Amino acid sequence: MNNRITTDLSGQTAIVTGAARGLGRHIAQSLAEAGAQVACVDINTESLADTVAAIRGAGGAAEPMACDVTDAGRVAEVVNEVVKRWGTLNILVNNAGITRDNVIVRMKDEQWDAVININLRGTFLFTRAVARPMMKNRRGRIINVASVSGLIGNPGQANYSASKAGVIGLTRTVARELASRNITVNAVAPGFIATDMTAALGEEIIQQVRKQIPLGRLGDPQDVADAVLFLASDAASFITGHVLTIDGGLTA
Ligand code: NAP
Repeated sequence: MNNRITTDLSGQTAIVTGAARGLGRHIAQSLAEAGAQVACVDINTESLADTVAAIRGAGGAAEPMACDVTDAGRVAEVVNEVVKRWGTLNILVNNAGITRDNVIVRMKDEQWDAVININLRGTFLFTRAVARPMMKNRRGRIINVASVSGLIGNPGQANYSASKAGVIGLTRTVARELASRNITVNAVAPGFIATDMTAALGEEIIQQVRKQIPLGRLGDPQDVADAVLFLASDAASFITGHVLTIDGGLTA
């Protein structure tokens, strides 16, 4: 048992993008532990198989779905496959994301395009694809993984910050569009969480970062997974268009 909040998602179906590693794997495991059937989406099929094996090994239900979130045709196919397989679709977590850091004067077109495409366009494509089945159900939960970089910016991350600020704008607008169908759309904005993405910063920078965080530590992936679980649960049924920071007080 890893979840620190208790909720029952039995009979519900979830899609989690970027589920092969890092936060996405923890989120997929948490939703499965709460009883949801989880479609695990990722481009990295090797690690994706490990996520699915871990969920099944713990008694949960999961299916691997190889998919590049920027491929509109494949995204639509995945959503159709999920609805066909499980007959329902209740939860979408748009988590797949990348960084390609560089200061603005050195930012390459490819670095800009890759980050905007995966982080923002991928979130748009999956959100658009699930909207109809969720509208039909008259219930749904969409949770987008943004970042504190999308709220306060971060030097060297113009592309990433713009993509995450875009995700926040998308969240707030779609929340308004889908509210009448009982679909909530929220974002989580993690600060520095201990994953491969932050390990790439190196120990020296991580030490400096830790000093800036009022709670004095990097976040644990489970801190994010628990927040996602809360937003997916019935307890969050009156919360929509919200951005929940999970940053140890960094942006307080
Ligand atoms: P991660 O460990 O790098 O995992 C990201 C996963 O997404 C990987 O499995 C990656 O596959 C996959 N992916 C990349 N491009 C994809 C694509 N086009 N289609 C489908 N899947 C794709 O990242 P993380 O740290 O867990 O971050 C997850 C999310 O949280 C991201 O949106 C990130 O921006 C956000 N976030 C993270 C932090 C943090 O401190 N870690 C803080 C704030 C926000 P590959 O293995 O092939 O790369």
